[in-house]
Amino acid sequence: MKKLKRTFFVVITLLVGYCLAFAFCLRALNAPVAVSVQAAKLSVVIDAGHGGVDGGVVGVSTKRKESDVNLAIAFMLKEKLADAGFLVVMTRTTEGGLYDTTAPGFKRRDMQKRKEICESANPLCVLSVHQNFYPSTASRGGQVFYRKDDEWSTRLAGNIQAELNTLYKGEGVKARKEMAGDYYMLRLTPPSVIVECGFLSNPKDDALLNSSAFCEKIADSIVVGLLATIKNTVNTVNVG
Ligand SMILES: [Zn+2]
Repeated sequence: MKKLKRTFFVVITLLVGYCLAFAFCLRALNAPVAVSVQAAKLSVVIDAGHGGVDGGVVGVSTKRKESDVNLAIAFMLKEKLADAGFLVVMTRTTEGGLYDTTAPGFKRRDMQKRKEICESANPLCVLSVHQNFYPSTASRGGQVFYRKDDEWSTRLAGNIQAELNTLYKGEGVKARKEMAGDYYMLRLTPPSVIVECGFLSNPKDDALLNSSAFCEKIADSIVVGLLATIKNTVNTVNVG
């Protein structure tokens, strides 16, 4: 039994190691991430923030709604995670919100519905996709929020943040640090992170986030960060 466990551990470690090596290799080539973690049958929920009458923030130059940017990146992420073998659940797939009517309290009903979808999917994690907006137009780059008391959420945020920092470094943007946040989507049962992909308050980030090629790289960064977190998890399994 012990030998079987050890063999299973070695196989899983090799599989994840191979997937990561392949993912990093593809990333270096700027190619889409296409790895397989089929054996693990892990599900992930992608939450495209806002929708419908709640458009979120608006691009300072493009005037594009955050809800549209979030959904575009969420679809790219869905494809890459499905290609990698994950079972993917999305909280929304249309421009509309998750509330039934726009009667008062729609935002609360929208968030409640997101929570229900996330909880019932019983996923490995929830990836909530948003865009940042600061009063100052100078701020740039990605910023990932995690739940303070959740170790997995913290590590996932750190790994995605590292990838986003590498991506934005190529645009001359200095590294940001992942942060603990006290948001609704971080108070779910499954581990979750909020990925603020860039600042719609900055004209350069706004332009980048309006480009499909750059958004594909954002999605790649999130996938690579997730795979790195899974690898760390497997390595800490006690194989006695
Ligand atoms: Zn938002």
